Parts: sequence; structure tokens; C-alpha cells
Amino acid sequence: MPIRELVQKMRPSVPGEVLEAANNLNYRDFLTVALIVNQPNLFPDNWIYIHDPLVKLGRVQNFKNWSPDMVSDQNKSCLGLEYFCFEGDELWNMKDEDLIEFGKKELEAIGLVKSSDIEDGSVVRMPKAYPAYDTKYREMLNIVRQYLKGIGNLQLIGRNGLHRYNNQDHSMLTAMLAVENIHGANHDLWSVNEEKEYHEDSKHSD
Ligand SMILES: Cc1cc2nc3c(=O)[nH]c(=O)nc-3n(C[C@H](O)[C@H](O)[C@H](O)COP(=O)(O)OP(=O)(O)OC[C@H]3O[C@@H](n4cnc5c(N)ncnc54)[C@H](O)[C@@H]3O)c2cc1C
Repeated sequence: MPIRELVQKMRPSVPGEVLEAANNLNYRDFLTVALIVNQPNLFPDNWIYIHDPLVKLGRVQNFKNWSPDMVSDQNKSCLGLEYFCFEGDELWNMKDEDLIEFGKKELEAIGLVKSSDIEDGSVVRMPKAYPAYDTKYREMLNIVRQYLKGIGNLQLIGRNGLHRYNNQDHSMLTAMLAVENIHGANHDLWSVNEEKEYHEDSKHSD
């Protein structure tokens, strides 16, 4: 669970400055507009990053190119239009049907798909998809870490569990090492993927 939520829910309550630090950990949210397209093969990529300032779209997933099993009817395709947003902002609060229409227009605007080829769609909103690295997060996280370190039977793992921009492999590794810790090992789970915090990796891609 996200560290902010964990700290808020702890009983007895944590000291005020720890709670305040946790409350200052921020997140970036995310939503996907999945559109069913009446075309078997649209383009060979599994995802395309979109940099056109005319649209809000950040990335398009072509799910069938990850695996044909992602699409039940092989005469069709499914595109996932990815929008990076904040819970409660204008995009997040749009009705699903409006987001689907908006997505269709954006796809047409960048020339990827004709909107007449789109048969249906659905929307998935994912709060706290990304732990935010803002100017204060390192200091805030440190306060929380120092406090939680004193709780011997608590281990923090995963992406939001460590407030770290982990990929799936890092997240799973922290879980595996945590299990070894329960069996007597002494792994520092905070050291997994630590270098990424200091060196922005241009290949990082989620
Ligand atoms: C759009 C996107 C694309 C990505 N693409 C890739 C990729 O291509 N390759 C890759 O390696 N990684 C990718 N990632 C990153 C990857 O998804 C994460 O690193 C990984 O899922 C984190 O695993 P986790 O177990 O920490 O958290 P999660 O997979 O988020 O699991 C946490 C679980 O805890 C549950 N939970 C939360 N709070 C509570 C609570 N209070 N009580 C009970 N349950 C709770 C949640 O519902 C969730 O099921 C991507 C992430 C995003 C957002």
C-alpha cells in the first residue's frame, strides 16, 4: 500500500511530524482509454510515445502486439490511450463516454486511426500509479523511513510501498528479499534500484 496511506492508518498514531511528512508524499495518477478498433493490424509497435503538443495523449498501447491473447476477436485491435493526470483534475473527472469520444478525436488528430473504425471503448482510472519525485520527497521520505525503521516486524516493499519508481522486477525482488528477511536474512530493501534515484535513466520506460 502507498506509504502515505500506511502511515495515516497506523494505530497508535505516529508522531505529528512523521504524519506530516507522509502527507507530503505525492503521486501522479493515470487513466487508460481502451478503444476497440475494427482493424486486424494497425501498426507493428507494442507502444508509441506521443509528443504532439496538440493532444493530451502521452502513449498508445497496442495490446494485441504484446500478445494476441489480449484481444478476443483477432479481426479487431484494442488500443490503450494513456493519459497522465491527477486524481480530481479535469481529465480524471470527465465522464467515461466523454473520455472515449475525446480519445477517438485525439487518435484521429495524430493520424493513427480513423474514428469511424472505432466500435467501442472503456476507461480505467488508476490512482497513485506513480510515486512523485518532487523537490521535497526525499526529505519527507527520510523522516518516514527513520520512524518506520524502529518497527521490527514491518517491511516495506514494492513501488508505492517504498515510494520508489520501481519496475515490476524491482518490486518482485523486494518481495523476495523480504521473505528471506523473515527467514533470518538481513537485506536492506531500500538498496534495491537505489541508483535510479540519482541517475535518471533514459531507457526507463513505464
Ligand atoms: C502505466 C504503467 C506501465 C507500466 N509498465 C511496466 C512495464 O512495462 N514493465 C515493468 O516492469 N513495470 C511496469 N510498470 C511498473 C509496475 O506496474 C510496478 O512496478 C509494479 O506493478 C509494482 O508492484 P507492486 O507490487 O509494488 O504494486 P502493485 O502492482 O500496484 O500492487 C499493489 C497492490 O496492493 C493493493 N493495495 C493498495 N492499497 C491497499 C490496501 N490498503 N489494502 C489492501 N490492498 C491494497 C493494490 O490494489 C494492488 O493490487 C508500469 C506501471 C504503470 C503505471
